[in-house]
Amino acid sequence: MPGLKFGAALPIADRQSHRPPHPMLDIDILSAFVICGAASCVAAFMTVLARAEEPDVAAGLRICTAGFAVLGLSLLQLLLGVRAADGVQALVMLAGSTVGVGLFGWGLARLTGERVPPAAVLGLLVVVVVAHLLAWRDGAWTLSLAFMVCMTLVSALAALGTRRFLQRPVCAAERLLGGAMLLFAASWFPRLAWMLAYEGPVQVHHVHAPPLAANALAIFYGVMPIFLATVVLSVLNERLSIRLALRANTDELTGAMTRRALRDLAPRAIAAARSAGHDVAVLMIDLDHFKAINDRHGHLAGDDVLRRTASLLRAQLRADALVTRFGGEEFAIVLAVDGVAAARQASERLRLAVADTAFGSPDRPLAVTVSVGLAMLGPGEALDAALLRADEALYRAKSGGRNRVVASLDRAA
Ligand code: GH3
Ligand code: MG
Ligand code: MG
Repeated sequence: MPGLKFGAALPIADRQSHRPPHPMLDIDILSAFVICGAASCVAAFMTVLARAEEPDVAAGLRICTAGFAVLGLSLLQLLLGVRAADGVQALVMLAGSTVGVGLFGWGLARLTGERVPPAAVLGLLVVVVVAHLLAWRDGAWTLSLAFMVCMTLVSALAALGTRRFLQRPVCAAERLLGGAMLLFAASWFPRLAWMLAYEGPVQVHHVHAPPLAANALAIFYGVMPIFLATVVLSVLNERLSIRLALRANTDELTGAMTRRALRDLAPRAIAAARSAGHDVAVLMIDLDHFKAINDRHGHLAGDDVLRRTASLLRAQLRADALVTRFGGEEFAIVLAVDGVAAARQASERLRLAVADTAFGSPDRPLAVTVSVGLAMLGPGEALDAALLRADEALYRAKSGGRNRVVASLDRAA
C-alpha cells in the first residue's frame, strides 16, 4: 500500500490479506537425530561425572553411561554423510541406536534393583546386531523393518525392566523416569504401524509418520537423552538425601532412632495418638550398672548388650512407638496407651523382657536389668517437660534399688 508506514492502522481485513503464508514447520529428521546423538554424548558426560556409593547403583550408572555413549556415537556418525538408506551409515545408526537403548534400559533396570543377567542382555544385543546385518543384505526396506521390530522389542523390555520405578517409586523423579521409559516404548508401536502402512520409497530417516507426529517425534527424540540423564541424576540425588536423612535419624549401633529423629517425629506421633483418643506415655529407660558390664566383659560385649536391649524394646512395642537412644545407655520411648495402668503394664513388660533374657554366652552369662521412669504426657505439656519428669522418676527407680518401674508423682503419672 503506497505511502503507508510500518505499524500504521490498517483495517483488519487488509492486514490479513498482507500476511505471508505460514506453512507448518517440517523438522528435518536427520538433523533431529544428529541433535539426539549430541544430546546423548552430553548425557554420557553428565552421568559419567555422577558418583554412587552402593555397588548396584554405581554399576547401573556406568551401564547407562555406556548406553548413552553408544547411542550418541551411532547417531553422530551421520555427520560423516548419509549416502543411502541401505548404506553402512544407516546400518550403524540403526543397529547402534538399538544397542544403545538396550544398554541404557539395562542400566536403569539395575538402578531399580532388578538384576538382569548380563548374558541375557548381551545375548539379546548380539541377536539385534545380527538381525540388522542380515536384513541389511536384503536392502533398505528389510533393514528398516528389522530396526523397527528390534527397537519396539528392546524398548518394551527396557520399560518392563524399569517397571519398579512406577510400581514402587521412592520419589517423584523415579515415577517420571518410569513414565518416560513407558512413553518411549509406546512411541514405537504407532511408528511400526505407520511404517507397515507406508507405500512410498524407504527414506533413510525411517520416520514414516504423518507430518505432525513426525515433528513431535523429532522433538521427543532430540530432547530425550538430556531429559533422561537429568532425571537419572535427580533420582540419585533424592536417594542420597533419603539415605543421609536415614543415617542422621538412626543410631548406628542400636538401630534405634536418634534424639534428632525423636524431636522431628514426636509432634506428629503425639497428635496422631491424641486424635485417635489415646494417651501418650513417655518412658526413660537406663541400663543398670552398665559401667560394670563394660569393665568386666569389655566394651564390645557392652555394645552387644546395648544392641540387643534396643531390639528387645522394639520387639515388645507396636511399630508406631518411638524408641530412641537418648544417651550412652539410656533409651527414651514415646508411645500411645490407654491410661496410666496400661502405661505401667507396658513399662513392666519392657523391664521383664530385658531381665528375663539371657545375655552373654553360655560360658559367660551376663545379668542385665533396666530401670524405667514413666511420665504421662499432660494435655498441652511439652515433650521436654514430660521427659524431664520421666528422668526424675528414673532417678528414683535407681535410688530405690534398680530393676524397677517408677512413675512420675506429678500430674496424672
Ligand atoms: P546406673 O545403674 O546408675 O545407671 O549405673 P551405670 O554404670 O549404668 O551408669 P554410668 O553412667 O556410671 O555408666 C554408663 C556407662 O555406659 C559408661 C559408659 O562408658 C557406657 N557407655 C556409654 N555409651 C556406650 C556405648 O556406646 N558402648 C558401650 N559399650 N558403653 C557405653
Ligand atoms: Mg546406667
Ligand atoms: Mg545412664
